[in-house]
Amino acid sequence: MTSDRLSSWIAGLRAGGHVPMAEHRAALDEAARQAIAGVPADALPLRLPKRRVADLVRCPRLAVASAGAGPAVPSVPLVMGRLAELGAHIVVLGAIDAAVLVSPDDLLRAVESAGRALADPLAAAAERFDDTARANAADDLADRVGQLARSWVRSPARWVRCEERFDVPLATAVGGAPAVVVSGRVDVSFGAPPLLRPAGEPRGVVELKSTRLPLDPIEESAWYALLAGLVEGVAPDGTALWAPDEGGPNSVGRLAAFPVSKASIVSAASRLEDAMVVAGELAAGAKPAERPGWWCAACPDRAVCPSSEGSDDLAVPDLLELASSLDDQPDGDDDAF
Ligand code: SF4
Repeated sequence: MTSDRLSSWIAGLRAGGHVPMAEHRAALDEAARQAIAGVPADALPLRLPKRRVADLVRCPRLAVASAGAGPAVPSVPLVMGRLAELGAHIVVLGAIDAAVLVSPDDLLRAVESAGRALADPLAAAAERFDDTARANAADDLADRVGQLARSWVRSPARWVRCEERFDVPLATAVGGAPAVVVSGRVDVSFGAPPLLRPAGEPRGVVELKSTRLPLDPIEESAWYALLAGLVEGVAPDGTALWAPDEGGPNSVGRLAAFPVSKASIVSAASRLEDAMVVAGELAAGAKPAERPGWWCAACPDRAVCPSSEGSDDLAVPDLLELASSLDDQPDGDDDAF
């Protein structure tokens, strides 16, 4: 489903379609118990953020290579994504509206001076922006953040928070620690927690993309619905992904919004079960299988993996989409805007 603005989607979201999560939680707990059967205790819990789940499902060897590749090297797209994220949070939390955009230069300065950013390797890259790069970055940020501001303005969302983190322990290993911890962080979350939520108030989550919508928006939306549902006991009423577009100065970006259904939760849970099986096998010492696909294009092992031969001929989606999906996940644990 698509909708023009985030604010109109939120206004139309109806509460009450919550999918109960108890049976899904029980099935995932059991799957986690089985997945760790041969895993040494010192390798537990298995930690599965979103990027690792995607890698495990696509290609086990890719998952091993990515885990060993270390932090992403700061790049201009990564820095721009982080800056756009700061601007997005200002927009969403109501510090500015569509008519009074914060200066992109202020955002750059904020990253260079904020205490949190000083410890962030991305800040070092930001400081290397020369005058030309800074001017281009300012225009780019004004465009991206402006589109979001126009999409969000007059949003009726209540209990809004940014970067809400979901950590989901599954099953219990010997010694009492969790067997598996699934994690994720969503850019925008609204609606009170279940026990505090007034009747009729909708609960939703929105993931913001820095450049364009992902290849698999339904899958990604279902992932966030699953995580929120596992933490809260009921799934949210709706999920949405938003990204800027090429629409010019009045654009409100692109929105892909989806209702949360039992089928979407089952699909996301099934994918997580598949990832847990592979993660358990790898942690138990299994040789990682090679499953070539379009993802070979960004695999750290591509130059040495025999299965990568011919992967150029596989159905490679838009390379910009691929770059976008990588830029959005700088450290494999964050799902940054
Ligand atoms: S090159 Fe392709 S098949 Fe080989 S490890 Fe990487 S993703 Fe897997």
